[in-house]
Amino acid sequence: MKYISTRGGMNAQAFSDILLGGLAPDGGLSIPEQYPQLSQADLESMATLNYRDLAFAVISRFVDDIPSDDLKALIDKTYTAEVYCNGRSKNQADHITPLIKLDASLYIQELSNGPTLAFKDMAMQLLGNLFEYVLDKKGEQINIVGATSGDTGSAAEYAMRGKRGVNVFMLSPFGKMSPFQRAQMFSLQDENIFNLSVHGFFDACQDIVKNINKDAEFKAQYKIGAVNSINWGRIVAQVVYYFKGYFATILATGKKVGDKVDYCVPSGNFGNICAGHIARQMGLPIGQLVVATNENDVLDEFFKTGGYHPRDVANTFETTSPSMDISKASNLERFVFDLIGRDSARLAALWTEVESGGGFDLSPAELALMQDSYGFKSSASNHSDRIAHIREVFEKYGVQIDPHTADGFKAAKAHRNLAVPMLIMETALPAKFEDTMLEALKQAPFRPKGLAGLEALPQRFDAIDADANLVKHYIVEHLA
Ligand SMILES: *Cc1c(COP(=O)(O)O)cnc(C)c1O
Repeated sequence: MKYISTRGGMNAQAFSDILLGGLAPDGGLSIPEQYPQLSQADLESMATLNYRDLAFAVISRFVDDIPSDDLKALIDKTYTAEVYCNGRSKNQADHITPLIKLDASLYIQELSNGPTLAFKDMAMQLLGNLFEYVLDKKGEQINIVGATSGDTGSAAEYAMRGKRGVNVFMLSPFGKMSPFQRAQMFSLQDENIFNLSVHGFFDACQDIVKNINKDAEFKAQYKIGAVNSINWGRIVAQVVYYFKGYFATILATGKKVGDKVDYCVPSGNFGNICAGHIARQMGLPIGQLVVATNENDVLDEFFKTGGYHPRDVANTFETTSPSMDISKASNLERFVFDLIGRDSARLAALWTEVESGGGFDLSPAELALMQDSYGFKSSASNHSDRIAHIREVFEKYGVQIDPHTADGFKAAKAHRNLAVPMLIMETALPAKFEDTMLEALKQAPFRPKGLAGLEALPQRFDAIDADANLVKHYIVEHLA
C-alpha cells in the first residue's frame, strides 16, 4: 500500500513516511493509491472480532512498512478498557464503542469514552503510539505546534503526554475556553506538554501557528510538526469504528452481513465522515452517509447543491456546537478526489479556486452521483433545534446527548428510512458542554466518575502575548 497526493505531485510513499507530515509537498492530501477491497467472506470473518482485532484487520491493510507484530502491539495497547473507560466496569468498557439503542432502528454509537470525552480520542490515542514508534525507528524527534479552541488540543495532549521524541506546544485563547476544557488541558503535568495561553482570540492562535509554519528554516531546525485533522493516521484509525458500528448494528437489529446501515455524522472538517466514505469504498455495506452541520452550513449547502463555497472567519459563527464552527472542510478534498474519478489535475484546479478565496460547483451529473451512488445527504441545525433535540432524546429515551450529537440526531431524523438501521455517531459527552445542557435539561450533565474534581486540580500553563516571535522564542528556550 503506497500513498499519493490528491493533486498528483508526490511520488508514491509508504505509510510511515506520510504519517508525520501534514500537507503533501504539492499542497494536496495523501491518500492510498487504491483502497483495500473486502469480500463478503472477509466481512463475515470480521463480524465477531473484538475492537482490537478488528482494528488490526482494517488498519493492517493500509500499512505495509510496520511489521505486523509491532502494529498489533501498538493497536492492542491503544484500544483498552482502561483508556476508553468513561467510569464503566472493565467488561462494559471493553466494547470501546458500544451502541445505545433509541428505538428499533435508531442507534447511537458511543465514540467519546476516551480520556478527553470526544471522538477525537479514538484516533489520536493510536496516533500517539504510532508517532512514538515511528520516531524511535527513524531516530527523530518532533515538536508539535498547534492551536485549539478546545477539543483537538486536549485530545492531542492526552495522546502525546509522556511519549518519547514528542513535545507538544499548544496555543489556546486566554480565558476563552470552558472551565472544564481549561482544566482538562492545563492539569496535565507531563514535561513534554506546554500549554500557551495566548492573550487574544482563537484566530490569533491559529495565525501564530501559520506564521511559524511559513518559516521554513525555523520549521526544519526545530522539527516542527502538527497533528491536525488532515493527518492520514487519524483518518485510518477512524475507519475502524465504522466497521465496529456496522457489525454491532447488524447484531442488534437481527440483520445479516451484507444488509445496509445508514450513518449520521456531526461534521466540521469532514474528517470523521471521510473515514465512513473510505469504509464504504472498501466494501462495507453503508447506505446513506448523512452530514450534520450547525449554523455553519457550508457542507449542507455542498451536499444539497453541489456548490462548495467556503467562508472566511468573519462569516463563521460562534455556536453552541463549537467544534463544528468550521467553514472550510479540509478533508473534503479527499472525497471530491474520489467523486471526480481521481482526476488530480481537475482536483488541483478546483482547490486552486478554493485557496484563492472562491469555490466551485459540481456538474448536475456529479451532484447526482454524490447523492445517489455515494449516498451523501445532509441537514443543518441551529441553537433552538439543538436545545429541542437534547430535550427530546432525554424525555423519550432517557439518554443525555451533547450539543454536537444533537445536531446529528436532527439530521438522522430528517433522513432516516425505517427499513434501514440508522447509526448516529456520538462526537462528545455532554459533560464538556455544561451551559448548553443546563439550558436544555435544567440539570447538570452526567460526568464520568474519575473527573469529579477536575477543575480543582493544579493547573500548569504560561500566558503569552499574541506574537509569533515570542512563541518561537518560548519553543527554543523550552527545548534546550
Ligand atoms: C471535531 C469535532 C467534530 C467535527 O469532526 P470533523 O472530523 O472535523 O468533521 C464534531 N463534534 C465534536 C464534538 C468534535 O470534537
